[in-house]
Amino acid sequence: MGVTAKKPYQLVSKENLKVYSTVKVGQAIFGGEEVQIIAGPCAVESREQILSSAAAVAIAGGKLLRGGAFKPRSSPYSFQGLAEKGLELLNEASKRYSLAVVTEIIDEYSLAAAKDAVDMVQIGARNMQNFNLLKLVGKSGKPVILKRGLSSTIEEWLLAAEYIMAEGNCQIVLCERGIRTFEPATRNTLDLSAVPIVKELTHLPVIVDPSHATGIRNLINPMSKAAIASGADGLLIEIHPNPEKALCDGAQSLNLSQYEQLIKELRPVANAVEKRLGKPGMTKLGGN
Ligand code: PEP
Ligand code: MN
Repeated sequence: MGVTAKKPYQLVSKENLKVYSTVKVGQAIFGGEEVQIIAGPCAVESREQILSSAAAVAIAGGKLLRGGAFKPRSSPYSFQGLAEKGLELLNEASKRYSLAVVTEIIDEYSLAAAKDAVDMVQIGARNMQNFNLLKLVGKSGKPVILKRGLSSTIEEWLLAAEYIMAEGNCQIVLCERGIRTFEPATRNTLDLSAVPIVKELTHLPVIVDPSHATGIRNLINPMSKAAIASGADGLLIEIHPNPEKALCDGAQSLNLSQYEQLIKELRPVANAVEKRLGKPGMTKLGGN
């Protein structure tokens, strides 16, 4: 009869909402002309570490700082994060540098702890199909980064977003962070084609995480450029004042001067696709 089947994710689908939605977090708007760069360490480790990372983010014109306080590690013996202490340190960095903060939540407990302490929560790849958590974040109304699962199809990813939106939370930013393939040269395989596909299928903003996608510091620069060129609304990048000493994901973290250089190189790439990055020095530096 020539009737095309409706998508199983009606709320996030572009079938019903033809315009792109935007998600506002602090001073950052995802889905607009400005490419949002979220940067910070994999895990909050110390006051000095998070404050120096936050300074680098602010100076480069970034509006969002990331830092894990509750870490979902593959090994139970790996550093699990500073929990509430980590949230306190994020809060201090946020106030001092006028940055919005993003942290990962892994369960009901960490969501409750993070809800009033941060501006945006992250559901990690390992929890993309934790349906109970998706519903809780949906009910919380908190802006959320929803990472693509390690072995999830785009349809499964969008259905996960639908879970959140079905509870009334429309503030969802999708994040492509690489998927598992047979290729061992990189930690994951960055599926950049997911960016234009998702833009075709949904009205939600989509960002790319070249750190977890590749696992390799030297690949962050070229993959960040490619991500912006492919239409990504933002990037999520791991940085650390001393990556060699990082307790988590040091091999895929830029040091602070590499980060500064990266941002300089990304500006013309964003301009080439009629977008822009936040102006350096726009974020006012407070405190001492
Ligand atoms: C992270 O952002 O530090 C993280 C654990 O990411 P992912 O869920 O993509 O592995
Ligand atoms: Mn990490």
